[in-house]
Amino acid sequence: MPVSAAPLAPTAPPEAHAALRRVFGFETFRGVQEQVVARVLDGQSALAIMPTGAGKSLTYQLPATLLDGTCVVVSPLIALMHDQLRSARANGIAAAALTSVDADWRETVDAFRAGQLDLLYVAPERASQPAFRELLSEGRLALFAVDEAHCVSEWGHDFRPDYRLLRPLMDAFPAVPRLALTATADEHTRTDVLHQLGIPDEGMVVAGFDRPNIRYAVRHRQGVAAQLARLMEEQPGPGIIYAPTRKKVEDLAAGLAAASGRQVLPYHAGLPPEQRAANQAAFVASEDMVMVATIAFGMGIDKPDVRFVAHAGIPKSIEAYYQETGRAGRDGDPAQAVMFWGAGDFVQARQRLSEVEPARQAGERTRLDALAALVETHECRRALLLRHFGEDPPRTCGNCDNCLDPPGLTVVTELARKLLSAVYRTGQSFGFGHVQKVLTGASDERIVSRGHDKLSVFGIVEGDEARMLQPLSRALQARGALVATEHGGLALGGEARAILKGEASVTIARPVERQPRGDRRGGRRGSSTVPNPVGDPLFEALRDLRRALAKEAQVPPYVIFHDATLRDMAQAHPSTISELGEVPGIGAKKLEAYGDAFLAVIRQH
Ligand code: ADP
Ligand code: ZN
Repeated sequence: MPVSAAPLAPTAPPEAHAALRRVFGFETFRGVQEQVVARVLDGQSALAIMPTGAGKSLTYQLPATLLDGTCVVVSPLIALMHDQLRSARANGIAAAALTSVDADWRETVDAFRAGQLDLLYVAPERASQPAFRELLSEGRLALFAVDEAHCVSEWGHDFRPDYRLLRPLMDAFPAVPRLALTATADEHTRTDVLHQLGIPDEGMVVAGFDRPNIRYAVRHRQGVAAQLARLMEEQPGPGIIYAPTRKKVEDLAAGLAAASGRQVLPYHAGLPPEQRAANQAAFVASEDMVMVATIAFGMGIDKPDVRFVAHAGIPKSIEAYYQETGRAGRDGDPAQAVMFWGAGDFVQARQRLSEVEPARQAGERTRLDALAALVETHECRRALLLRHFGEDPPRTCGNCDNCLDPPGLTVVTELARKLLSAVYRTGQSFGFGHVQKVLTGASDERIVSRGHDKLSVFGIVEGDEARMLQPLSRALQARGALVATEHGGLALGGEARAILKGEASVTIARPVERQPRGDRRGGRRGSSTVPNPVGDPLFEALRDLRRALAKEAQVPPYVIFHDATLRDMAQAHPSTISELGEVPGIGAKKLEAYGDAFLAVIRQH
């Protein structure tokens, strides 16, 4: 549900709709795009808060093609700028960048002065220099667009001091409207961005955060390499796997490459910069590669056809999780987000809390508890995520693991008490294995020598209940009722008290390892895999042509056309250029550049 306070111009003028069709080849605006575009065309400033994949770039690119003068786009990363530049140019938009790696500096400056540029991309370090301000005064400005605008706020997760210098620059051109863009959900940061960039409160436009095409699933980690290999079989398209450490990244990348025969490359901050850049470039260009990475990988990856994002361990927070998984399915086609977690992840994360400076501990603990709730919940994952971001979603979504395949639940409060008592009575220093033996009455030398076979908790758990001890222990660790000792034993945590006193109950999913069931239940939101007509000769031929054209133009295939556009082409089977132009995703420039080549292939089928 769009929540916006913008009082004026909620609909864009007809020329904006015409440009949407002509330049981008899209029939309709998505979500709040129209509202943002309308404001900007009206000469007003705005802060657009839209989730990753919602289509932020169109909200300044489209006005830039209509307004007189140049839109200056401030963007924090060169890679991000060049991605955008490529896509803009492919749509026939006059765009250039002024960065240290752009050789055509002179031409760009001249083109700007002559009023020939729609878009001028620049990094904040450069934007804040006097020479740049001087340059801007020599041309005509239509708009300031500030991408990743949360970087201006110390509250945001990526504070960049250079962003603070943008305000004085923009203040020097008071008549030029400002459009700030971010995917950050946090209330505090939003308000701060408005103030830091001098945008009026009523200029904030917030899109709904739902990403309905992403299917969320959380699974217990159990031989994660094999679990990931299975996911890769289900999803032949590009994917990202986040792993917690550099070593894990290297191991998984090597193992999965061998197991799948697909290209799987590592990415982490310990690799030489050239190799990182090369691996990233290979990923962006590929139609089936998997990148195994630490969280160092991500910002600045604008690849729309990522089909899955998997986590081989828990992310840092729900915010981080949403941002990382948001990299899947930007093109709107079905995509998957799968998290594989283990109790140890939470144990370690809670241990690390003590190393955090005291002032931040409470906040970090809250973040971790929210994440534990996501992992533990038996209800809709999407609903939990959206509520976290302040929305009021329906109770079920039909496109997450819990909605598609509701787990059988069982109340195990009594068993939880037994487990906690056993941990307490054995002295809060033994690992799960030992405690389990005590509870199930499996005597061994260690147990006898400590006299644990004489305890009142010895052998009080049997049969069915015994099978639930392990998942129960996981759940108790996730919620902090059990914590790890320095030597890997279990001890009671803060949450244990309420359970032991009978004030809190414990419910877990009945322990059967849930296998991915594919689409047996037919998700209401559709499938988790792209409906590409695999094996359809026309579709395959169109893909081949796209690949060849992409190679020739040295751009990733998606810059030519998205999969959805090729599917529509194959389905519509146009026989003339004007019929081809009707297919969504084909603007005038692309029709001119590629129309004949694609028509020729279609005619052969
Ligand atoms: P963001 O920057 O918000 O993550 P992008 O600007 O990269 O998103 O856009 C994501 C994808 O959505 C792009 O591939 C773009 O072509 C597509 N897109 C944007 N607007 C529309 C629209 N109105 N209709 C269809 N597709 C769109
Ligand atoms: Zn759901």
